[in-house]
Amino acid sequence: MNSDCKPLANYPLRERNTLGFEVVAEWALPITQAEQIPPAIRWAKNAGLPYRTLGGGSNVVLPAQLPGLTLLMDIDFIEVLENQAAKTRLRVGAGVNWHDFVRWTLDQNCRGLENLALIPGTVGAAPIQNIGAYGVEVKEYIDTVEAFDCQTNQWVSLSNKDCRFTYRHSVFKDEPNRFVITAVIFDLPKVWQPRISYADLANHFANRSIDAITASAIFDAVCAIRTQKLPDPKVIGNVGSFFQNPVISNQQLQSLKRQFPQIVSYPESATHSKLAAGWLIDQCGFKGVQMGNVGVHDKQALVLTHRGGGNASELLKLAEQIQRKVKETFGVELVIEPIIINGSASL
Ligand SMILES: Cc1cc2nc3c(=O)[nH]c(=O)nc-3n(C[C@H](O)[C@H](O)[C@H](O)COP(=O)(O)OP(=O)(O)OC[C@H]3O[C@@H](n4cnc5c(N)ncnc54)[C@H](O)[C@@H]3O)c2cc1C
Repeated sequence: MNSDCKPLANYPLRERNTLGFEVVAEWALPITQAEQIPPAIRWAKNAGLPYRTLGGGSNVVLPAQLPGLTLLMDIDFIEVLENQAAKTRLRVGAGVNWHDFVRWTLDQNCRGLENLALIPGTVGAAPIQNIGAYGVEVKEYIDTVEAFDCQTNQWVSLSNKDCRFTYRHSVFKDEPNRFVITAVIFDLPKVWQPRISYADLANHFANRSIDAITASAIFDAVCAIRTQKLPDPKVIGNVGSFFQNPVISNQQLQSLKRQFPQIVSYPESATHSKLAAGWLIDQCGFKGVQMGNVGVHDKQALVLTHRGGGNASELLKLAEQIQRKVKETFGVELVIEPIIINGSASL
C-alpha cells in the first residue's frame, strides 16, 4: 500500500464530531482522491476490521474508541458540467463543506439551495439523510450520486430514483456503509421561485412583495434565523435535531388534538401529518434540563447538547428518557435522527 493509502493509527476525532466528544479512531485515512478508497477498503476487509465513512461528523454519535478504519472524506472540487438556458449542472466532491457550496452557488447566480444554508457537514453526506430545512429537501436538486460500492467492489452512479429518497432517509441509510460517496451531481434549474412558506421565513418576509425577494435575501434570512435558534456546535456540542418529527395518521392526530388542543402539526400527505418533536419534548418538561455533562437546549428542545467531559452513553441515556416520557404522554415513538456508531460493532 503506498503512503497516501496508509491508514493512521489512534487518530483523534475530537475536532471531527460536532458533539465534541473525545473520540479516537483505531485507524483513519484522510481521503482526498477517490482512487484511495478501493485499496483502503481492501486493507480493512483483509484485516477483518469494520470500516465506515465520516464527513464533518455533524450527524453522528461516536464512541470513545472507534474500532476499525474510518475514512475521512476530504475530496474537494466543484466542476461546472453544463451551464445552459434551462439549468446549471454541477459535480461536487464529497468533502466540500455544504454551506460553502451553497454560498458558492449563489455567487454564481445559481438558485435553489438557499433554504439549506448553514446546515453543517459535507456535500457527500447530504444525500445520506436527504438533508432538509425550511420546506426544501436536497433530493429535489440531486441528479446523480457517484460512489464506490464496497459490497461489489465497483464504482457506481446512482440516479435520483436509485437513491430512494424520503423524509430524512435514503438507500444509504437502508444499506449503511455499503457506499462511499465520492461526488454528487446537482441540477439547478434557471426557473426559480422563492420558497418562503415556512412560518419563520414567511414572518421574515411578511412585508415584502414576493417579486422583490431574491435567493440571496433568503440565504441571509435562513442564516439569521438559524443562528438565533440553534446552538453553534463550535460553542456548544450538538448534532442539530436529535429526533425526527414523527409522522402519524390524521386519525391519530385528531384523537391527540382532543386531549392536547395546542399540539403542533404540519400536513405531510392526504392521510398523514408530521408532529413537531420539539413541542412534544418541551411539553414533557425537558427543555433546558441538564443531566451530568449532557442536556436539552434551553431554546430548542429538539437539540441535545454536550458542554464537555461527556460521552455517547450519557447522551443516549438522556435520549432514552425523553423517548420513554414522550411515548407515555402522547403514545408517539421518537426516532433518533443521527447515526449512532456502536464501539463494538461494524456499521
Ligand atoms: C447545528 C446543526 C444543525 C443541523 N441542521 C440540519 C438541518 O436543518 N437539516 C438536516 O437535514 N440536517 C441538519 N443537521 C445534521 C447534519 O448537518 C447533516 O445530516 C449533514 O448532512 C451531515 O454531514 P456530515 O458531513 O457532518 O456527516 P457525518 O456526520 O460525518 O456522517 C453522517 C452519516 O453519513 C455517512 N457519510 C458521511 N459522508 C459520507 C460519504 N461521503 N459517503 C458515504 N457515507 C457518508 C456517515 O457514515 C454517517 O453515517 C444539523 C446538524 C447540526 C450540528
